Amino acid sequence: MSTIYNELKKVVSEKYISNSIYIRHAYSRVVDPVLQGIPDIVIRPKDAHEISEILKIANSNNVPVLPRGGGCGEFGGAKPIKDGGIVLDLKRMENIIDFDQDNLIVTVEAGISWGKLNEYLSDFGLYTGCLGPGSGMTASVGGGISHHSVGGGGCAKYGACTNHLVGLEVVLPTGEIIETASKANKFTKFPFNRFGNGPDLTGLFCGDNGILGVKTKASLKAYPKPQFAAYKTFLMPRKSMELSSEIFLEMRKKGLDVYDSMYFMDLLVAVGCEHGLFPMWEDLKRKRGIMFYTVEANSEKELSEKVEQLDKLFIERKATELGPEIADGNIAKWDYEEQGHWLIAHNLWGLIPGFSPLDAECHTAINTYPSIMKDVELWDMEHSEDMNKVLEITGMRPISGTGPVILIKDNNVELTTGFTSFESYYEGKYHEELREINLKLWKSMLKRITKHGVSWYMMGDILSRLLVEIGAFRTEYFNLLKLLKNTLDPRHILSRGKFNFW
Ligand SMILES: Cc1cc2nc3c(=O)[nH]c(=O)nc-3n(C[C@H](O)[C@H](O)[C@H](O)COP(=O)(O)OP(=O)(O)OC[C@H]3O[C@@H](n4cnc5c(N)ncnc54)[C@H](O)[C@@H]3O)c2cc1C
Repeated sequence: MSTIYNELKKVVSEKYISNSIYIRHAYSRVVDPVLQGIPDIVIRPKDAHEISEILKIANSNNVPVLPRGGGCGEFGGAKPIKDGGIVLDLKRMENIIDFDQDNLIVTVEAGISWGKLNEYLSDFGLYTGCLGPGSGMTASVGGGISHHSVGGGGCAKYGACTNHLVGLEVVLPTGEIIETASKANKFTKFPFNRFGNGPDLTGLFCGDNGILGVKTKASLKAYPKPQFAAYKTFLMPRKSMELSSEIFLEMRKKGLDVYDSMYFMDLLVAVGCEHGLFPMWEDLKRKRGIMFYTVEANSEKELSEKVEQLDKLFIERKATELGPEIADGNIAKWDYEEQGHWLIAHNLWGLIPGFSPLDAECHTAINTYPSIMKDVELWDMEHSEDMNKVLEITGMRPISGTGPVILIKDNNVELTTGFTSFESYYEGKYHEELREINLKLWKSMLKRITKHGVSWYMMGDILSRLLVEIGAFRTEYFNLLKLLKNTLDPRHILSRGKFNFW
């Protein structure tokens, strides 16, 4: 390892490489609690050329390389599967390269966070449309593109963050640097269009979970942020699961241009209030389901017409509007005006010391999520024995359920299911048993949800391997994916082990 270390040091200089035990341990984890392996080397390159050199060295020494953005993925992905290898930290690459003000296209380095990019655009009255994931203050543009991320605001109107991608610069696993889309034509001076010049090769790297190349630059469309906006929050009547799905479907059938809309199930509201997650709803007499919408417009008249149409959907179903202020429980205002979209999920991690969400985010069609949510309740009952073992050790039973359901462009929602449990360390003691039960329960939940036919967009290594193990991929599809991997990365240098390819 010391020979490779010295070769790599020449590429990035001593300041940007480490094999110290502290740094290696820090990079052995992401958000999920599972510890799998510790890398040998952590390296922080400054551009595509350095990454190309690193990958060439890794290929000639047969050492795996793992790209890492903000490290916010919930299923591993940016941490090693086994001991060894190199973690490629892209967070040093966070510059805005170019802003084409005429064509409204911004080109950034892939390590930049969604928060930093949107802060820059806001000075021009613009935003990225979909604001990336809910972790957007830390999560990188490269990580979001590798996951098809959604959820950080604006997704009902703009869809996933990859929808607005105009082109990429990618370092292939063997070290070649390519530019996709309009930049594939060597006479093109600036990126302006995703499609053309052959098949959509930009799409090949979208949602690839870091297996096909290292994204180093991304060009994204920027959108003018309309001057007028309204935000309303409603307390739902009983049986809000089905009603919420009806409302989402009506929004789509009537072509209502909503910017964001979310549904919080009854249990989430009740448990969240109990643990201080939603202080704005603490005074609500009935802790029932909550639903909100935000909508934008270019004039007051346009806005009031849109609000009237949207309100009707809620009033017809006997939902009660909460007051206009955040203190009245109007989470929509907090979400839109106070960047709540980037804060909402953060409290889940660290709510109680050792409390750890083992969750799963997928896309499913609007009319399917109520039945999945009911199945999660069944799953909980069927796994009582294991849940009670956690109760015996920690004094608390894991809470399973469904997180906010977020409306996505077209007829999709983002559905978060899972359970919160405790990590292996509890009150200073290590409990091997806790670790085993949690992993068993988590995999069982993921398998159950997969069988509802959902689309997983964020897979990391844990979910990508589980899907292969349970035979979820159609054979021909999986064979093509494998062929692509073998062609682009014959030694499986990049993200070795994901999808059980290695
Ligand atoms: C509080 C919180 C809220 C979240 N909310 C959401 C949400 O609303 N929606 C959502 O989709 N996800 C959400 N997530 C999950 C996760 O943060 C996102 O998917 C995010 O986009 C990951 O970005 P990252 O930069 O942290 O990527 P990382 O976790 O660092 O990496 C993710 C994957 O992409 C690969 N990768 C990273 N950068 C590159 C690159 N430049 N080139 C090639 N491969 C790369 C990695 O190898 C890994 O497989 C949330 C997580 C947290 C902790």
